[in-house]
Amino acid sequence: MLPRPRWRRRGTAARTACTLVAVASLAAAAASNHGSGLAVDLCGGIERFGTRQYAWMQANAGRFGFLHPDWAEPGNGREEPWHWEYAGS
Ligand SMILES: [Zn+2]
Repeated sequence: MLPRPRWRRRGTAARTACTLVAVASLAAAAASNHGSGLAVDLCGGIERFGTRQYAWMQANAGRFGFLHPDWAEPGNGREEPWHWEYAGS
């Protein structure tokens, strides 16, 4: 019998979701600006449109040089609420 992954033994559902997003980010790194360090995939509520956490990012990310790209917005074909890019200050 194989041991259970460590994140499953001690993780909450939210931590599990964050872990899955992090793994997806690593997988996408070679094919996107994640690899250059100019994009991040976030969780903790930000990964869903309409949450309080996502609304906070929309209102405040620009103050820190981050933006949510148009292609990742709802209705633009590839919705990714978790994906944020650094555009500079
Ligand atoms: Zn991303």
